[in-house]
Amino acid sequence: MSLANCTRCGRVYTLVPGGRDVCPACIKEEDDNYLKIFHYLSTRPSATAQEIAGATDVDIKEIYRYLRENRLRLVQGDTGLRCESCGMPISQGKMCENCAKKLSEEIKSDIEKFKQNKPKEVPPGGSRDPKYLKERRGKDK
Ligand SMILES: [Zn+2]
Ligand SMILES: [Zn+2]
Repeated sequence: MSLANCTRCGRVYTLVPGGRDVCPACIKEEDDNYLKIFHYLSTRPSATAQEIAGATDVDIKEIYRYLRENRLRLVQGDTGLRCESCGMPISQGKMCENCAKKLSEEIKSDIEKFKQNKPKEVPPGGSRDPKYLKERRGKDK
C-alpha cells in the first residue's frame, strides 16, 4: 500500500494498484458529476459545455477534462448537426454563427424596407415578410 496526493482535492489517500489518481471521495463526486452531465446530455444532446455547467453545477473545467479523456462527446462537429444554410458543422441550433448573423442583418434590412414601402398587404407566401423570418428564427431551439 502506498499513499498519494489526490490530484483533484490534494488530500492524502491510499493508492490502490491500477486505481485512479484521485481519492475515493473525489471518485464518487466525479462519478456523480459525470452521471449528471450524462443525463443532461441525453435530454439536450446539442448542449455546449457552458450550458451543461450551468444546468448541472459541474465545474466547466471538469467537463472539459471529461472531453479530453473522451468520456464525453460534445465538441463542435461531433453533434451531427449542420448549418441549414451553409452546411458547416455546428454544436447547437440550426445555423452557424455566420449565417445566423447574416440572417439577422437580412431581417434588419427587411424591416427597414418594410417600413419604407409600408405595403398594405403582405404578399402571398410572404417569405420576405420580416414577421415570417422572426418566427422562423424563434423556432431555432
Ligand atoms: Zn480528492
Ligand atoms: Zn452557415
